This record gives sequence, C-alpha cells and structure tokens, in this order.
Amino acid sequence: MTNLARKEMCVLMRNGIELWLDSDKATTFGNDLTEGMRTVVKIEGRYLNTVDIVGIFTPQDLDDYKRIKNGQWKCTKGTWHAKGEDCKCKWQQPSVWEAPEVGRDTGAGLEQLRETVSRIKGNNGHSET
Ligand SMILES: [Zn+2]
Repeated sequence: MTNLARKEMCVLMRNGIELWLDSDKATTFGNDLTEGMRTVVKIEGRYLNTVDIVGIFTPQDLDDYKRIKNGQWKCTKGTWHAKGEDCKCKWQQPSVWEAPEVGRDTGAGLEQLRETVSRIKGNNGHSET
C-alpha cells in the first residue's frame, strides 16, 4: 500500500506524545472519546487511557501550544515573539494610514499644487518643446 493518508489532526497525550491522524480517523476517535463509555481506547495500534489524553488538535493548535510552552507569546498583530522580547509590530506595520489633509474642503492644497507645478514648468520651460 502506497496510500499516504494526510495526518491532519493530533491526539496529544499528557506525556507529550503526539499521535497524528487523518481527519476521518480523528473524527471517529473523537466520537469514541465523547461517548465516554470506555476508559481505554485503541488507536493506530496503541491503547490509550482516556484520562491521559489532553485532546485532539489541529496542526495550528499544536504549533501554538509548543510556542507557548517555549515561552513565546502572541501580540495583538498575531506575531509570535520570543520570551521577554518587546513587540514592535505597531511601528513596523501601521494599520491606519492618515490621509493628508491636502485639497480637502477649501481646495487650498490643490491650488498650492497647481502653483508649484506651474513654477516648475516655468523654471524648466526651455528644456522641452
Ligand atoms: Zn508584535
């Protein structure tokens, strides 16, 4: 069999062991768990005591879990930072651009722009025909 099922979900054990399952198996296993009828369940040839199962997680969950365990933290911009590192995201990625006030209401800015353009044209007028 060359069928390589994608391992999409992870059963995480209290001892840190990760059992990666494809989504179908994870769903079946999850249903078994939520029924809660058994204290020992079999999955992928292993027998697990259900009290030792932390949960069934997505790869993203696992990634977050490991980062947090390593002391990393996620700022409001969604960027992970190392333990003790300051977040500078708000300076690097401005979320709101302040539109310049030029040309609003009075049209003064636009007038100023016209003057500037005509001055430049006046100064360089000879170079072009
Ligand atoms: Zn940040």
